[in-house]
Parts: sequence; structure tokens; C-alpha cells
Amino acid sequence: MLFTEQHEELRRSVSRFVEREINPFVDEWEDAGMFPAHELFKKLGDAGFLGVTKPPDYGGMGLDYSYGMVLAEELGHVRCGGVPMAIGVQTDMCTPALARWGSDELRREFLAPAIAGETVGCIGVSEIGAGSDVASIKTTAVTDGEDYVINGGKMWITNGVQADWICLLANTGDGPVHHNKSLIVVPMDSPGVTVARKLDKLGMRSSDTAQIFFEDVRVPMRNRIGEENKGFTYQMTQFQEERLWAAANMIGGLEDAVTETTDYARQRQAFGRSILDNQVVHFRLAELSTEIESLRALTYQACEQYVAGDNVTRLASMAKLKAGRLGREVADACLQYFGGQGYMAEARISRLYRDVRLASIGAGADEIMLTIICKQDGTLPDQQ
Ligand SMILES: Cc1cc2nc3c(=O)[nH]c(=O)nc-3n(C[C@H](O)[C@H](O)[C@H](O)COP(=O)(O)OP(=O)(O)OC[C@H]3O[C@@H](n4cnc5c(N)ncnc54)[C@H](O)[C@@H]3O)c2cc1C
Repeated sequence: MLFTEQHEELRRSVSRFVEREINPFVDEWEDAGMFPAHELFKKLGDAGFLGVTKPPDYGGMGLDYSYGMVLAEELGHVRCGGVPMAIGVQTDMCTPALARWGSDELRREFLAPAIAGETVGCIGVSEIGAGSDVASIKTTAVTDGEDYVINGGKMWITNGVQADWICLLANTGDGPVHHNKSLIVVPMDSPGVTVARKLDKLGMRSSDTAQIFFEDVRVPMRNRIGEENKGFTYQMTQFQEERLWAAANMIGGLEDAVTETTDYARQRQAFGRSILDNQVVHFRLAELSTEIESLRALTYQACEQYVAGDNVTRLASMAKLKAGRLGREVADACLQYFGGQGYMAEARISRLYRDVRLASIGAGADEIMLTIICKQDGTLPDQQ
């Protein structure tokens, strides 16, 4: 993909923001198990970064997704995975459907403040009993007059502790499971919404993750995004941006890992020469760099076709699959060359090792990506 000067300008300004407003505080936020989302999102909103691909009518920049990809890629240089993921939830996971199918009124009420960084959003799809199998969710939103009354619970919700609103997937009908769900915007201060607990995690420690309950929560029906019972399809479309974002965001962190490992292995001596001088080491690092470039090429290809309006289900799933697997491979190999130092909690490589593990699970596990690719390729047996 050929980037314009406008892309490079955006890349430079995101990079400056990361170095000034995020990286100096990452260690503190990782230790605290949370970062100040409202404070940071306000700064991101003021800089315009929360609305790069969103409509100008609601405060966005109205640029195509290649600019969103530049943002995601550059956020990969944040020295942890948790903060970029939280930003990605706001830009590419809880707002794409709202921006595309939300009514003007709903977009003024929830999208515009999210773009401005005045509110924090989250996306509520997964439940205790339904992660990969999204169609089997149990949360319901039942019509009562002009309102929906919502009951159920959501699990592992990123930003859930600090969020002002949730883009919630709930059952609104009795029909077939792919045609009985709706996406509804629910303010988190609605009576009956409870953040049951902040979940402790292996990695992504600066990002807060919540279990949330809904008990007779009443929201007006006008808070529904788009048409009733089309929520499953909307969410599957929304997942495309989430998966492209996940692939693009992986690239920067992996590049940094290879660069930092090269530097460390170059200065670290064993058996009278640098670790890097062993062919097995510099060849391995060259292989990893080659793989990272192939992830970049695949992600750019998917993005280019997405911008052209093509269906990128297959390519976005491949990019997400590749990102998850390569993340684990790079983090593991690089940690090895850092030796004992790499195993220390303070080492950036050990943080990457913990953080990247999520990429093969969240936003659709590797096996779900494979299932989608097989479906697209016509190799999935009928019974599945
Ligand atoms: C840190 C974190 C943040 C998250 N943030 C959010 C969020 O903001 N919003 C949200 O809605 N969700 C979120 N999730 C949930 C995440 O999307 C789910 O964990 C994920 O979709 C997998 O669902 P599950 O955990 O129920 O796994 P399960 O569905 O129980 O699957 C377990 C494993 O079984 C295997 N598997 C599943 N199905 C198949 C199959 N058909 N064939 C072969 N193997 C299979 C896979 O290896 C899978 O990992 C988050 C999760 C984590 C850990």
C-alpha cells in the first residue's frame, strides 16, 4: 500500500503522542492494574485520534480505514498491550456499528462524546457461557412500552470498570439465533447495571476487565443501533474492524521486540563472543523479521480491499490469525535470547510475552478464524 504524506503526518503525530502522553506512564499503570481512561481519552480526543475514521458530522476526521490502520499500527509502539487495546475498543470495537447504523440522535448522544474523548465506551458481547459461540448468548432485552428491559450478564469486558456506556448485544426476539439479536447502547449508570468485579489477568494488566450484570435495566428503544434483530449481522461486520485493528496493532510491538532483542544480543557476551554472533540467533531474528513483514503485507492487503469496499472476511480473519500466532512466536523466541533477564517481570519482553497471548483468544480465537476461513473457502463440512 502506498501511503500519502497525510498518512505519514498522522503516523508522526501519533508517535509523538505515544512518547509524550503514554510511554512515560506505562509502568505505573501496569502496576496499578488500570490506567486513567477518562484523562487519557480526553487528550486523545483533543488530538482527534478517537475519530480518525468517523464521520465529521459527529466530530470525526472522516478519513478512510487506511488512516485507522496507521493509528493502530503506531499504537503498537506503546510499551504495553493494555492501553492500546483500551483505545482500540473505543475506536474500532464499540463504535463502528454505532457510526454506521446508529440514528442521528443516538450518534449525537453517544458517538460524538466518544470521539471527543469525553466518555469511555465498551463492547459487551461475551458471556460466561458464550464466547466463541456468539449466537448462544443468553442476555435478553424485552420490549415494554417504549423501553427495553434488559436482564443477563457480560464477561471479560475491556474498559468495563471505567466505561460510561456499553454497546450491548442482547436477544430481542424468539427467531433463529442469527436473526433475534440487537445492539443496544446502555449507559453504565442505568439502575440495575452492576460491575460485579474487576478481573485479574495474566497480561494486559493496565487495561481493566469487568464482569457486568444487568437486572431489569430499562433503556429507551431508541437506544437500539439500526434495525431490531439485525444485531448479530452488525456485530459480525463490526468484528471486521476489530480484527483488522488487532492485526495492525501487533506489528509495531513485534518490530520493537526484534530490535530490542538484537541490541541486547549484540552487547551480551558468552563464550567469548556476542550472543548475536551465533548464526542460530541472527538467522532466527531474520526469520522473525521476515514473518513480521508478511503480517504487514497481509494486513495492508486486507485494509486496502476494505477501503475499496470489498468483503474482507477471509483476509481480515487470516490477518488476525497470523497476528495471534506470530505474536506468540516472536515473544517466545525473543524472550529466549534475553535469557534470565527476559524472564524478569520488569523486562519489556516478559510483558509482551504475557500481553500477546490474548491475541489468539480475544475477538475470536484462532480456531474461530480457521472456521471462518474454511467457510469462505468452502471446505467446512456441512454439519458444522
Ligand atoms: C482480556 C480479555 C478481554 C476481553 N475483552 C472483551 C470485550 O471487551 N468484550 C467482549 O465481548 N469480550 C471480550 N473478551 C472475551 C473474548 O472475546 C472471549 O474470551 C473469546 O471470544 C473466547 O471465548 P471464550 O473465552 O468463551 O472461549 P470458549 O468459547 O469457551 O472457547 C475456548 C477455546 O476452545 C476452542 N474452541 C472454541 N470453539 C471452537 C471450535 N468451533 N473449534 C475448535 N476449537 C474451538 C478455542 O481454542 C477457544 O480458545 C475478552 C477476553 C479477555 C481474556
